[in-house]
Amino acid sequence: MTFTTRFAPSPTGPLHLGHAYSALLAFEMAKAEGGQFLLRIEDIDQSRARAHWEAQIYDDLAWLGLEWPQPVMRQSDRMAAYQTALDALWDRGLLYACACKRRDILAASSAPQEGAEPVFGPDGIVYPGTCRHAGHPREAGALRLDIRKALQTLEGKELNFVEGGSGPEGESGAIPVSKDLLINHVGDVVLARRDMGTSYHLSVVLDDAAQAVTHVVRGRDLFEATYIHILLQALLSLPTPHYHHHQLIRDETGKRLAKRDDARAIALYRENGSTPRDIRDIIGL
Ligand code: GLU
Repeated sequence: MTFTTRFAPSPTGPLHLGHAYSALLAFEMAKAEGGQFLLRIEDIDQSRARAHWEAQIYDDLAWLGLEWPQPVMRQSDRMAAYQTALDALWDRGLLYACACKRRDILAASSAPQEGAEPVFGPDGIVYPGTCRHAGHPREAGALRLDIRKALQTLEGKELNFVEGGSGPEGESGAIPVSKDLLINHVGDVVLARRDMGTSYHLSVVLDDAAQAVTHVVRGRDLFEATYIHILLQALLSLPTPHYHHHQLIRDETGKRLAKRDDARAIALYRENGSTPRDIRDIIGL
């Protein structure tokens, strides 16, 4: 199988040095393997995605010297595929509608035992299960995965993935994804947000499979989200690619760069006369 990787930015702000690191690393890994580097625009959050950020992504990446095949996959064109997967999971009884607001979840997670603290997983607070057996109609809210039921359908199947980079605790090699971890530290994740009709987790898994991605190269901040992705691949009978989670680029104070760090936007370096070589020197590539 041809080594295929991708860079999958969301057009909700300028790309910064951390994105440059991720994109260049993926591009070079593909080149070294004689493989393919794809670009995918993750624009499911239409309330935040903007055409001018998307245009700037293309400009920045081309300026850095990257090339990718056309046409570029855009998640906003893939809503029908996400819907089909949700229909299948709903028909199998693995989803339920959740009408909770954030504050309901917070309140239910802290009660009833006094002093109980909500558990935070890769998708936020581990859902306390309020709506799991409420029998709400599908339109009533977000769609959550009933993780216990989902795991029952996978009885006897081992869930794991190969990590070629490393996780936050130095995890590498074959990484088991245990039931205990999924139930207690991930919980009933939202697969379709009320406002979007899908979610990052569902879309990324379906798109990586649709693009025949063999190696996912991305920042270490998404290492734990991979547990959800492995489970979804098993449920949807999709292949599990190899993963390579890389270091995060931090500022001088050790804080990880975020979209709002416009001072480190690639476009700004570009305007100020830096060269792509300068960018590589700053990020150590
Ligand atoms: N769209 C995600 C982001 O911009 C990246 C998703 C991924 O690489 O899996 O953070």
